[in-house]
Amino acid sequence: MTLVPGDEVCGIEEFAPAEGTYEEGDFVYASIVGTKSENAQKRIVGVNGRGVRGLARGDIVYGKVMDVYDAVALIQFEAVNPHLGAHSTYCYLRISEVRRGYAETFREYIRIGDMVRARVKEVSPLGIHVTIADRELGIIKPACTRCRSWMEIKGDECVCPVCGNRERRKTAEK
Ligand SMILES: [Zn+2]
Repeated sequence: MTLVPGDEVCGIEEFAPAEGTYEEGDFVYASIVGTKSENAQKRIVGVNGRGVRGLARGDIVYGKVMDVYDAVALIQFEAVNPHLGAHSTYCYLRISEVRRGYAETFREYIRIGDMVRARVKEVSPLGIHVTIADRELGIIKPACTRCRSWMEIKGDECVCPVCGNRERRKTAEK
């Protein structure tokens, strides 16, 4: 099972928090995306994930939308700067960072499978948060929710050349 930051891993009585986790109240929570690893001998629990190193606020990242929850979306990205490491990693997009102004749901702005250009807003032990609110940020390649083909961006609309589906996104201005 994949854990995401904030997921409860276990009670503090069971295991002490190790790498990739933090303690709050009576529980241990995941601080990164990854899988749970328990060490029964040492009575510690950690989360094995991909590290988050070297990224800083303001960096541009390109990634793919992996999952969309109510208030946050999970994006897997490759850092553009090779000095930041070749490994792909995960970042989070809060719904408040999807556009300027209020957005009720992600539905009209991003969908699973889309390719996105985002800017790092915050790097913390709990993960990387990005924004796509600015004009030059957003979806650069929308994936059709019907047939998974790449859609063409035509003004305010995205049009699927394969099935003819039309959808909306928060697209990046060129
Ligand atoms: Zn389609």
